[in-house]
Amino acid sequence: MKKIALALAAVAGLAATGAQAQDYPNRPITMIVPFAAGGPTDVVARIVTDHMSRTLGQQIVIENVAGAGGTTGITRGAQAQPDGYTIMMGHMGTHGAAPALYPNLKYDPTKDFAPIGLAAGTPILIVAKKDFPAKDLKEFVAYMKSNASKVNQAHAGVGSVSHSTGILFDSIISAKPTLVAYRGTGPALNDLMSGTVDFMTDQIVNVAPQIQGGNIKAYAIATPERSPALPDVPTTKEAGLGDYQVSAWNAVFAPKGTPPDIVKKLNDALVKSLDDENTKKRLLELGGVLPSAAERTPEGLQKLVESEVARWTPVLKAAGASAE
Ligand code: ASP
Repeated sequence: MKKIALALAAVAGLAATGAQAQDYPNRPITMIVPFAAGGPTDVVARIVTDHMSRTLGQQIVIENVAGAGGTTGITRGAQAQPDGYTIMMGHMGTHGAAPALYPNLKYDPTKDFAPIGLAAGTPILIVAKKDFPAKDLKEFVAYMKSNASKVNQAHAGVGSVSHSTGILFDSIISAKPTLVAYRGTGPALNDLMSGTVDFMTDQIVNVAPQIQGGNIKAYAIATPERSPALPDVPTTKEAGLGDYQVSAWNAVFAPKGTPPDIVKKLNDALVKSLDDENTKKRLLELGGVLPSAAERTPEGLQKLVESEVARWTPVLKAAGASAE
């Protein structure tokens, strides 16, 4: 008797999950952006969710939960109900660099998520305030070597993209500038424009409009090719620092245990969004790189996360970085 009751309960449970997935989503979805509004992750999130919400027939509400280089928001997302109503925009920092920098990180990027898909590749640029006394990357590196203690470098918190790519840059040129932390590179960019801080390494989608507008200067882009969005900005190789090659990315994740049907619906909405002409145009104008078909899949994203954790751990340990 007890056995039958248990079996019935199990069937009822399964049916409930099935029904849940079938009419998903029947209320608004929250997407956690683990940085301040207006920064690169926020920008990518708003662009891709715009069209995703049309496919899903429900609003996707962005919630900015900043702190600790993005790990505060992602911890909250990892611990949310895995019902598809809380998803998050993670990135190269939260899902690649963070494990090397936070020994007590409360999530494992490779195990605690249901990956949905890559949203955009975001090349890194070395940018400085408009009147910084160095006209090109060579002069900047020379200046940094003798005056680093006078230079303020902005970043979005330990483990963020700007922090990990920034300390990689500092270690390559053997300089130790003063690091200044923000809750995202959106606010850091405001201070760069007003001249409160001197430079940062940041994702193209945040800085492209201000470079195009002449409000900040770009020394180089750290990719093998120039960006079509910023054709006048040289690559690090062209500018004499070919060792500095680094690119970031932003991707959609759900908490581990999210039902496969819901993961599929979210992935389908993401893929449709990335195929939408308006989404593409907005991402490309900002210098974002559209993910390939394979990169848009949950499996592709899982592989990327695993390779990024493996790539960043030794690099950051060698650069002597830690959150403590
Ligand atoms: N992605 C962060 C932001 O949106 C910045 C960073 O990771 O450097 O502000």
